[in-house]
Amino acid sequence: MARVLVVGAGLTGSLCAALLRKVTAGPLHLTVWDKAGDSGGRMTTASSPHNPQSTVDLGAQYITCTLPYAKKHQSFYDELLTHGILKPLTSPIEGMVMKEGDCNFVAPQGVSSIIKHYLKESGADICFRKCVTQINLRNAKWEVSKETGSPEQFDIVVLTMPVPQILQLQGDIVDLISKCQRQQLESVSYSSRYALGLFYEAGTKIDVPWAGQYITSNPCIRFISMDNKKRNIASSEMGPSLVIHTTVPFGVAHLEHSTKDVQELIVQQLENILPGLPQPVATKCQKWRYSQVTNAAANSPGQMTLHLKPLLVCGGDGFTHSNFDGCIASALCVLEALKNHI
Ligand SMILES: Cc1cc2nc3c(=O)[nH]c(=O)nc-3n(C[C@H](O)[C@H](O)[C@H](O)COP(=O)(O)OP(=O)(O)OC[C@H]3O[C@@H](n4cnc5c(N)ncnc54)[C@H](O)[C@@H]3O)c2cc1C
Repeated sequence: MARVLVVGAGLTGSLCAALLRKVTAGPLHLTVWDKAGDSGGRMTTASSPHNPQSTVDLGAQYITCTLPYAKKHQSFYDELLTHGILKPLTSPIEGMVMKEGDCNFVAPQGVSSIIKHYLKESGADICFRKCVTQINLRNAKWEVSKETGSPEQFDIVVLTMPVPQILQLQGDIVDLISKCQRQQLESVSYSSRYALGLFYEAGTKIDVPWAGQYITSNPCIRFISMDNKKRNIASSEMGPSLVIHTTVPFGVAHLEHSTKDVQELIVQQLENILPGLPQPVATKCQKWRYSQVTNAAANSPGQMTLHLKPLLVCGGDGFTHSNFDGCIASALCVLEALKNHI
């Protein structure tokens, strides 16, 4: 039975696993590893430690189906809409730029519910807190090492982490990447920003006319969302939750600062935009060192095959662009590369 490892339980990795299961007729041993403690990657949803129902999307906020992909990816949207995982975005987002034909969706249970859905469909063994450090060739198989525990062997490996994290891997993989591929991978770049989630007590009123707002006049804050309002969920048992995204210049300037210091700066700036906010009961500050792709891998649409026998493929938004459609496009390309090997 072929043993396949997908590294990364974000949107690309979870969808690769689900698609692979769908197209494989025979038995398949499918494993997904992620270094984080939960699934989602940059589509993560954080819960209040006081109330798991109170959540914020710290990365992706809403899903935009654009005209060029509407037909091509219709089945993916239909599936998520049928399962109630996506719902049309109906609440007002001030300053949102809409192109003709765009359709926006929100995930009522948080954006990470999309990833959880695909992981469930994949039937894979999913292991968290497994940080891959080395990939070596052993007897025509991949021996994959992680920070803790013994190395394990696989027939096929799919890497879906941000490209700089692929380039950090040690072992035989370093020499297997050709000079030309390395150049392409090194040219992939990402923006950086911080996200701050604020959770409030049940019954707290935050009276704003919007569910989300793009800010253009603040050096630190770019976007604010009232996450429960964005998803159209109101409950007397659950307080409101806010998520704040910083601007990219602020993110870059404070990349090596402590998260605690950065959180204080964001809260100070927030006071200028929304004066008199109540004290939150819990907070969560997230650094996105690799936030959104600013320059994707040239000449490698969707995926890059690093080695053929055994197969080692990488995918993710670094090979397309940073949104739902970009990750679907990449996962479909990875699947195409894998089809003849399973
Ligand atoms: C602030 C922000 C706002 C965004 N807004 C939107 C939006 O509104 N709409 C939209 O569609 N998109 C948005 N995006 C982009 C979208 O979130 C990404 O394009 C998408 O989530 C990328 O998914 P991925 O699976 O390719 O990568 P990731 O989500 O980064 O998944 C990679 C996974 O690999 C894991 N990993 C990394 N290194 C290792 C290792 N060595 N071993 C094991 N695991 C490892 C990581 O923990 C991670 O879970 C936003 C992103 C950010 C950060």
